[in-house]
Amino acid sequence: MSIKLQGLRGMNDLLPDEAERWEAFEAIVRDWLKSYGYRPIRTPILESTKLFSRGVGEHTDIVEKEMYSFEDRLNGEQLTLRPEGTASCVRSVIEHNLIFQNPQRLYYSGPMFRHERPQKGRYRQFHQVGVEALGFTGPDIDAEHIVMCRRLWDDLGLEDIELELNSLGDAEERAAHRGELIAYLQAHESELDEDGKRRLHTNPLRVLDSKNPAMQGIVEAAPKLMDFLGEESLKHFEAVQFLLREAAVPYRINPRLVRGLDYYNRTVFEWTTSRLGAQATFCAGGRYDGLVAQLGGKPAPACGFAMGMERIMLLWLEGQDTDVPLNSPDVYVVHQGEAAQPFAFRVAEQLRSAGFAVVFHCGGGSFKSQMKKADGSGAAYAVIVGDNEVAAGVVALKPLRGDGEQQAVTPEALTELLADRLYGDSAV
Ligand code: ATP
Ligand code: MG
Repeated sequence: MSIKLQGLRGMNDLLPDEAERWEAFEAIVRDWLKSYGYRPIRTPILESTKLFSRGVGEHTDIVEKEMYSFEDRLNGEQLTLRPEGTASCVRSVIEHNLIFQNPQRLYYSGPMFRHERPQKGRYRQFHQVGVEALGFTGPDIDAEHIVMCRRLWDDLGLEDIELELNSLGDAEERAAHRGELIAYLQAHESELDEDGKRRLHTNPLRVLDSKNPAMQGIVEAAPKLMDFLGEESLKHFEAVQFLLREAAVPYRINPRLVRGLDYYNRTVFEWTTSRLGAQATFCAGGRYDGLVAQLGGKPAPACGFAMGMERIMLLWLEGQDTDVPLNSPDVYVVHQGEAAQPFAFRVAEQLRSAGFAVVFHCGGGSFKSQMKKADGSGAAYAVIVGDNEVAAGVVALKPLRGDGEQQAVTPEALTELLADRLYGDSAV
C-alpha cells in the first residue's frame, strides 16, 4: 500500500517561481545591510533549550508554548529548534569573544520554528532577517536601526506602513511600575480574561499587550510605564526621537507597546501595516542591554530587530505577477544529430565561460518540440545546431523575442555577436 507523504502543517515549500522572488528579495536585503556596514553571522538552527528559556524568557509565549523541543537520543540533553535569532547570536558572540575589543554590527537570516496555529502570515517554519548591534550604548544606534528599516521599505516600495515606538525604561523603573501594575490588576482581577489572570503573576507587562477587546478598558486605565521613566531613560528616548525627526521618519508613540520577549529595555519599536489583517507587525525590535550578561557574558549594551520575511514578501509581491519566471536564460541550445550534440555541448560551455546563462536541451526530440521548449524557457535566443551547421562549422542564432532574422555564425564570433545583441545599442 502506498502512503501519501506531505510536508508538515505550517511549513511551506517554496516552488521555483516563488523561490526566485525570495532570492531577489534576499539580494536586495544583502546590499542594504552592506550599505550600513553590517556583517553576517551564521549559527546552528538547533541549540540547547536552556539558551531560549534563559535568553527569551520563561514566561513568554515562545517558551511557554511555541518551541519545538526534544531530547537528544544519546545524552538526554534538551534541544530546541531556534524560535528566534537573537539568543543564538548573543550566545555565539559571547562564546567567541567577539565584542572583546570592538562593537559589532551583525545580521543573520534563516528559518525559525514556532508551534503556532498556521494562518496567513503565521507559519510554524518561517524566516527572519535580523540585525544586532552589540556594544553600542547611545541612542544613535537605536535610531540607525529604525532609519535603515525605513530605507528598506522605501527600496521595496512597501505602502501603508506605520512605525510604533515606545520606551520600556530600565530594570528599576520597570520594577517600580510592575509593583503598581500588579496592585492595579489585582484590584481588577475578576475582570481579567484567562491569559490576563495567568500573566498577572508571571509577566504582568504582557497584560498590557492584550488584543482582547473586552480587556481594553482595563488596559487603557492601567498605570503607564512611561510615567515611571527616570531622567536618563527619558533623555535616551528623546534623543532617538530627535534623530528620527531629523531623518524625516514619521512615528507614533504607543505607550502600550511592550513586545513579547523579556529581554527588551528602553527603545522598542514595531513596523505595522494595515494590509496583513491580524498579522499586522512585520518587523520589530529594540534595545536589550541586559541579555549579554544574562547569557553569561561580560555586560554589554545591545539592540536589534527582526523582520518576518513571509510577511514582507506578502506585501512586496502584492503587485507582482509571480507566475512569470524572474530569471530567464539568455540562450536555449537546440540540437539534433550525433555529431551535433558534442558540438552544441561545447558551444554551451563556451557561452557560459563568457558569462551567459545557457540552458542546454536534454532529452532529444524533434527540432519543433525543442523549439517549443526553448520558447517556454523565456530565453532571449535559441542557438540551433543540426547536421548542416556541424558540416559548415557554424551555429544558427535565432531571436525568440520580438522580430529579427535567424543568422549563421561561427562559434568564435558567437560570443561577441550575442553580447552585442543582448547588451549593445541594438539590444533586444
Ligand atoms: P506576533 O505578535 O505576530 O506573534 P511576535 O511578537 O511573536 O509576532 P517576534 O518574535 O518579534 O514576533 O518576531 C519578529 C517578526 O517575525 C514578527 O514581526 C513577524 O513578522 C515575524 N514572525 C513571528 N512569528 C511568525 C510566524 N509564526 N510566522 C511568520 N512570521 C512570524
Ligand atoms: Mg508570536
